[in-house]
Amino acid sequence: MTLEAIEQASRAEIEALQGRLLRAQVENAWKNVPFYRQRWEAAGVRPENICTPADLPKLPLVTKEDFDQDLIENPPFGSYQGNARPVRIHASSGTTGAPKPFFNTQADLDRIAELSARRLRAQGVTPNDLVQVTLPFSLYIGGPIAIEGAMKLGAGVLATGTGAMTPSRQQIAIARRWRPTVLCSTPSYALRLTEVAREMGLDPARDFNFHMIYVTAESCPPETRAELARRWNARVYDNFGSVEAAASTYECRCQCGWHISEDAYIFEVVDPHTGEPFPPGKQGALVVTSLFREASPFFRYRVGDLVSLWDDPCECGRTFRRMSPVKGRADEMLKLRGISVYPAAVERVLRTFPELGAEWFLVMEQRGGVEEIVVQIEAAHPLPEQEREGLASRVADRLKREIGIRLEVEIFDPGALVSPEAAEGRVKARRIIQRTPHSPEPVKNRE
Ligand SMILES: [Zn+2]
Repeated sequence: MTLEAIEQASRAEIEALQGRLLRAQVENAWKNVPFYRQRWEAAGVRPENICTPADLPKLPLVTKEDFDQDLIENPPFGSYQGNARPVRIHASSGTTGAPKPFFNTQADLDRIAELSARRLRAQGVTPNDLVQVTLPFSLYIGGPIAIEGAMKLGAGVLATGTGAMTPSRQQIAIARRWRPTVLCSTPSYALRLTEVAREMGLDPARDFNFHMIYVTAESCPPETRAELARRWNARVYDNFGSVEAAASTYECRCQCGWHISEDAYIFEVVDPHTGEPFPPGKQGALVVTSLFREASPFFRYRVGDLVSLWDDPCECGRTFRRMSPVKGRADEMLKLRGISVYPAAVERVLRTFPELGAEWFLVMEQRGGVEEIVVQIEAAHPLPEQEREGLASRVADRLKREIGIRLEVEIFDPGALVSPEAAEGRVKARRIIQRTPHSPEPVKNRE
């Protein structure tokens, strides 16, 4: 497997290329994208002030809220799309506010397919592979780009879609009969499929041909990854991107952070409060700039994830800088008694207990005027009442030790919490539930 020349380029070569691409993006946005021109004029910046990546901090940051506001003022698609005609429109999955459309030209989609192919190749996919894609084909971009990347690489594709499109038992029957070698899925649906396989009397570790599980669209803490690898007896790659910054990063075989495709995007990390740029190694809010887009180019977009950037060399030989695992999303952070609680940190602790199943929720509720967070999770196997209580208190103890706060833990029988999202393999299983008043019922019954 050979690397592309740009994947081994020197820092000076990468920055020279970024400067060239950035100048063209800025020039285009100044002429054709009112959303940016207005902001830059207000900040007193002109295209000639932006020559190299080091000039980027002169441009103002943009947020999801800025796009929301623009959509209200310039319906239906906003003024941030520019004047290029789209061949396909994608939209962010709307974790905050309404879905945000992003236009793509054919050239944009071709470039994204190349980045997606680069990612799959780095993870060991070859033209000999058959790739089963159980991601949704919707406004969300993750499903289409997995398919287009695999095709660009010359691999075969089985686009089965989510459980709503191809029922889970049918997904398993197809995987058993046609022997696909790569599974693309959300982490929660990849776990769910192992349970369905077992219900059908099959052993996921032995009865299938998958050598690689490609997960995306939800956080996949190390413990979830290890659990998936164990259940499927396959190597698991976690893929980070977004509808805007599609296929922007990739894990290599070393699995030590996410290489940034720096010939297509510039990643920065800034102070979450002041927006001041942080040096490599320091954790802050991720800010992304596109370098290739004809439609909806974006500049210094605050994605919301908390990460750090690493510039030390990777053993794989690639010179693209890497992004750390996502610590959490600034907008997903919960505050309880002054302590920050990240759902991803809770999940990491839950995955260290083999007695626990895949499904879990954080239920926020008021108890006697006090905000509480209750962790509801399924057991892996039915447990007698007494054992269940013992396990709940051990989980609560470990959560206290790892995240610094005591949360109440409620454990349910397997199947009690299967979320509609996980059952169908939709993206971003919703993990945080607001509920008032307290009820001992599992959250599923309240949905
Ligand atoms: Zn590497």
